[in-house]
Amino acid sequence: MTYIIAEPCIDIQDRSCVDVCPVDCIHEFERMLIIDAEECIDCGACEPECPVEAIFPEDALPEKWEPFVKINYAFPAEKAEIDPLVTAYATEHNVQNEPID
Ligand code: SF4
Repeated sequence: MTYIIAEPCIDIQDRSCVDVCPVDCIHEFERMLIIDAEECIDCGACEPECPVEAIFPEDALPEKWEPFVKINYAFPAEKAEIDPLVTAYATEHNVQNEPID
């Protein structure tokens, strides 16, 4: 299992999760952060740090955000695909997350 970052992170990228991850497996892309499933040790430290509640254990990810399993798992093997996958999802679902203070 791993942790998954989902839709609420798009265009927010608060980065609080990056600061607490003990194995530095959270990576920044053009429009959101992504967890490297191969490096994640399932410690759960990142989940409560996210101000927009974008992080979930994979087995507790809300069904509507299932596409983010594929997006997170695209790292690192298909790194170049992540930005296009996120943009395609955001366009299809008309994602307009409000910036946080
Ligand atoms: Fe990093 Fe732990 Fe979050 Fe995995 S669960 S991304 S290891 S902080």
